Amino acid sequence: MSSAVYLDNNGTTALEPRVLQAMLPYLSGQQGNATSRHIFGRAARNAIDQAREQVADAVGAHPSQVVFTGSGTEADNLAISGVGNTQTSGRIAISSIEHPAVTKPAQALAWQNWKVAKIASNRDGQIEKAALAAILEERADIVSVMLANNETGVIQDIAALGEIARGHKTYMHTDAVQALGKINVDFVDLNIHAMSLSSHKINGPQGAGALILDKRIDIRPLLYGGGQEKGLRSGSENIAAIVGFGAACAIASHDIQQRTSKLRTLRDRLEHGLKQLDATVFGAAVERLPNTSFFAFGGIEGETLVMALDRQGFAVASGSACSSDSTEPSHVLLAMGVDPDLARGAVRVSFGSHNTAEEVDAFLHTLHHELSRLRKLTAIAV
Ligand code: PLP
Repeated sequence: MSSAVYLDNNGTTALEPRVLQAMLPYLSGQQGNATSRHIFGRAARNAIDQAREQVADAVGAHPSQVVFTGSGTEADNLAISGVGNTQTSGRIAISSIEHPAVTKPAQALAWQNWKVAKIASNRDGQIEKAALAAILEERADIVSVMLANNETGVIQDIAALGEIARGHKTYMHTDAVQALGKINVDFVDLNIHAMSLSSHKINGPQGAGALILDKRIDIRPLLYGGGQEKGLRSGSENIAAIVGFGAACAIASHDIQQRTSKLRTLRDRLEHGLKQLDATVFGAAVERLPNTSFFAFGGIEGETLVMALDRQGFAVASGSACSSDSTEPSHVLLAMGVDPDLARGAVRVSFGSHNTAEEVDAFLHTLHHELSRLRKLTAIAV
């Protein structure tokens, strides 16, 4: 499509050719509705069932625990509002670094007599056990802490946090949208009740996600209708997208070791160069996703740098990719106690398995050049 170098894989990823192949039979010709009993309907149902197994296998869950949704956002909303709507008031605790797909439904619960508590992040972007334990001194009904942050890539010890939540008999959800395909994700080991996933972050198609759910959890649907997905997500299924999601999960699980080590090599190469350019890399001291680097240079606006790099053929993100129309500094960095002026300079590079060492070197070369040019312009303006 473009000869530009794509370095925004936490935003979305390219559709893997094998995934497209798996989807093609469901994109043309006569398709059945998966609720129909005839041969066309049964074929659609079988395709969905196979995808359900593939998604479940990728995260060590049982197929019956997979609820397909239209996106990671919908899975997060179902996890929060779906449980929140079972009672008229309560208390929800979310971390201060969550994606808007979690913060906004939590806010919506606050309009219905719920209290929202924010679990503080430490300076490295980690949610410490003590911070959760302090919040849970007052009873909470829902806890939501993401497995890996979309901006910094910082990974949380969800199993340990889940143990604390269980100790308080509190329902716990994790948003694993960015973690899937980049690190091992096991629903049982994570010690949680619900987990959100998204297809297009793992080289699957856009338009599919899933909530993995402990079957003992009482949950209300967001959409009512024909009763698909055991009544939790009515609406005729997007079969091609679900099939693609399943195929992407199978490929991601198979390739995870090789993919992780390639991504880490690219990221380390980038950060070696960034160090020489005096960048501040956020969360660098702790465990992060192997593909993500979030950094800033004092005195240079992230938005300005992103646009300058775009003109030179490099697609990167500033702040959170999903709210890139906002010029506010990243709420994640502010929660980490980063100085707002430095936070305004934040730029994110997120690698995918197609990226190469040559692209990293070309990026560093262009970055160096653009930084010098922008610094000169800033000096003239002052
Ligand atoms: N959660 C996280 C951590 C994300 O990074 C994103 C998207 O960037 C989402 C949820 C939303 O997923 P989707 O784009 O599938 O709605």
